[in-house]
Amino acid sequence: MLVTLKEILEIAEKKKIAIGSFNASGLEAIEAELAAAEELQLPIIIQFAQCHEPWVPLDTIGPIMVHMAKRASIPVCVHLDHGETLEYLAKALEIGFTGIMYDGSVLSYEENLANTKKAVAMARKYGAGVEAELGSMGRRESGSGDHSGEEDETKIYTDSEQASSFVTATGIDALACSFGTTHGIYLCEPRLDFDVVRNVRRKCGNIPIVMHGGSGVSTEDYHKAVEAGVRKINYFTYMDKAGGNAVADYLAKQEKKEPIFFSSMYMVAREAMKENVQSAMQTFALVK
Ligand SMILES: [Zn+2]
Repeated sequence: MLVTLKEILEIAEKKKIAIGSFNASGLEAIEAELAAAEELQLPIIIQFAQCHEPWVPLDTIGPIMVHMAKRASIPVCVHLDHGETLEYLAKALEIGFTGIMYDGSVLSYEENLANTKKAVAMARKYGAGVEAELGSMGRRESGSGDHSGEEDETKIYTDSEQASSFVTATGIDALACSFGTTHGIYLCEPRLDFDVVRNVRRKCGNIPIVMHGGSGVSTEDYHKAVEAGVRKINYFTYMDKAGGNAVADYLAKQEKKEPIFFSSMYMVAREAMKENVQSAMQTFALVK
């Protein structure tokens, strides 16, 4: 069933777990994600990031996401990930998304604040929830940026005092915090500062914290993050990689003269992504 961002985060808060939030890079990813959630009977967030528009347009995949969420047996929030313009947020809301993230992290604090307020006003008209970001996670959602493998100096950890006034002024439902994680593929050992999460929670009336970028994060650290108050965990790169690896293995096993069918690769990738998503969901739900 389709639920709002606020509703799904309330479930997380009650159970003291984090909800896995997975990108919808195409139909096969959504199928893998929903099948994983239904088998485990856990709530799930499926999300589409604006930077994935070249893979499949929001216009095409958005209505499919909403349709599939409605007929699922578990609570599903359909969320826009890293919306960079207010026009794009409006498009997602019009399609029926029940959560939107406004990403103004590259803007000045004042501009981020002003636009986030506008995003909240827009979302309220549709009954949808809003996630916003404070601080900077260095590499962008697309994984682009500095690939040196050194500690990324553009990372700026979220300040709890600033977060407090930001949350009060905007009325957002969830806050993406920067506390040491990085988007994309693992480059160097992440050093996570769980005190950032705890302090922001304390200063912001226990607002649900969103964790972006799980590159190189251990199961133990995911558990610590959930215990500190992370209630939504964005996860995609490693499920995408699991699908890619499964296709590579499948192709390596094919005889040279055999025809290669795309539909076979699709099914192999979907199964591998489902398994990867299940294991992530169990970690985020503290299933030992
Ligand atoms: Zn992100």
